[in-house]
Amino acid sequence: MEPNGHSFLDKVIGIVKEETADHVPLIDFKHPKELEELLSDDLDISKPTSDCELERSVRKMLQYSVKTNKTTFRNQLYGGTDPYGLAGSWIAEAFNTSQYTFEVAPVFTLVEMKIIKHILKLFGIPDGDGIFSPGGSISMLYALVAARFKAFPEIKAKGMRNLPEMVIFSSTDSHYSIMKAAHWLGFGTDNVRIIRTNDFGQMVIDELEATIQKELALGRYPVLVNATAGTTVLGAIDDLDAVADVCEKYGIWMHVDACWGGSLILSSKFKNKLKGIERANSISWNPHKMMGVPLQCSAFLLRDRGLLHEANAAAAQYLFQQDKFYDVRYDTGDKSVQCGRKIDAFKLWMIWKARSDTGLGKLTDHVMEIAEFCLGAVARKDGFRLVTECLQCPNVCFWYIPKFMRNADEDDKWWDTMHKITPKIKELLTINSRLMVAYSPLRHHKNFFRLAFTFHPIVEEREVLDMLQSIEDCGEMVTLSML
Ligand SMILES: *Cc1c(COP(=O)(O)O)cnc(C)c1O
Repeated sequence: MEPNGHSFLDKVIGIVKEETADHVPLIDFKHPKELEELLSDDLDISKPTSDCELERSVRKMLQYSVKTNKTTFRNQLYGGTDPYGLAGSWIAEAFNTSQYTFEVAPVFTLVEMKIIKHILKLFGIPDGDGIFSPGGSISMLYALVAARFKAFPEIKAKGMRNLPEMVIFSSTDSHYSIMKAAHWLGFGTDNVRIIRTNDFGQMVIDELEATIQKELALGRYPVLVNATAGTTVLGAIDDLDAVADVCEKYGIWMHVDACWGGSLILSSKFKNKLKGIERANSISWNPHKMMGVPLQCSAFLLRDRGLLHEANAAAAQYLFQQDKFYDVRYDTGDKSVQCGRKIDAFKLWMIWKARSDTGLGKLTDHVMEIAEFCLGAVARKDGFRLVTECLQCPNVCFWYIPKFMRNADEDDKWWDTMHKITPKIKELLTINSRLMVAYSPLRHHKNFFRLAFTFHPIVEEREVLDMLQSIEDCGEMVTLSML
């Protein structure tokens, strides 16, 4: 250890570059106990070590970490970062501050304001308001808090005790964070009504309306409808205009979970897929997913200006003094449920500044085009079968059916075997460092693969074909006795 640690810091970019270079494998997978054993000396913190040893430990730890910067990392809806975003992230970390007051984050406050204003305009609610949150799940809490406060402002002081029973509506394919939010905020998960989806994964609107009518007849209060623009697995986009019509008719808060699909707003060619989003009361969008802003970067937007502050303010006197020497309207922190808050907007601003709307539009178009290419390739290739042919977001979902399973009667037993084959192929792909890809069951569908595409690194057609080839190669290694 050196007295100030600065010389180690100077080496960091070099270390990261080397440990994530092109020739480095995607993953050197070890099972947990094995990894614990391998790294036991490195993990040990009982005595100080020299910088030289520290570097050796760090490199070894990075060796066993997943290289999410690679094209073959398709395991999640995030992946490689935009290099400008990573630069922004490093700068933001180095300037270590908190977003709550103008006093400690003068420029970063203006950056957040600027970027929120720009995003609001893109989503068609130019007079709205917004805040950066740690992620989509937290944004769901914001949406429910805003909707509930709007309906019952007394909630803040009195709690839920004397209020009518409230119900929330969300689709089968929507993100699970709605259940967590319902629990955390005291609605209870039993008060989330799950609305059926069609084959493409979109909420069935007639069923939404019928369910709302039923709840009203039972004297319950419909507090929020959670529509999804880009479901996590299929990438389905609900018919947002139709949801808005229903919400308007019954006076219910419409939230759009656009965590995944919101990035389509950046493309003039594809933004019409989100038509109706401009009628939402609130929107959540994760630039840390498709766009490749380093984790975490998530925006929560709402139509009602001032509501966020009213609903969340606690007016702490030690932090948000009203007799400060500058215009305290620039202390935006009381809109947040957090106290200390990272300056996530800066990473997004860096990217936008470098690339502008035009550059981001091109990246969006490319990601949709590459997904379309992948969909076509999957449709044509022997042994591959699509879950749905309808491309809504850049998600392509399919099964790989090994040769020994083909031309057989596809009864329940056959599907039970397919259910085990998909995770087995994934295991082989991982162990052989070929590809990290997601799989999931969905409704009546047995385990299938989800290949989802993100802006960075820019994926080429050849690489998509390589990914499918890897799945085929590993699929053909599977035998019944392995399952
Ligand atoms: C990922 C995701 C979320 C949750 O976002 P986090 O930032 O991971 O909390 C919510 N909704 C959808 C549709 C998602 O895909």
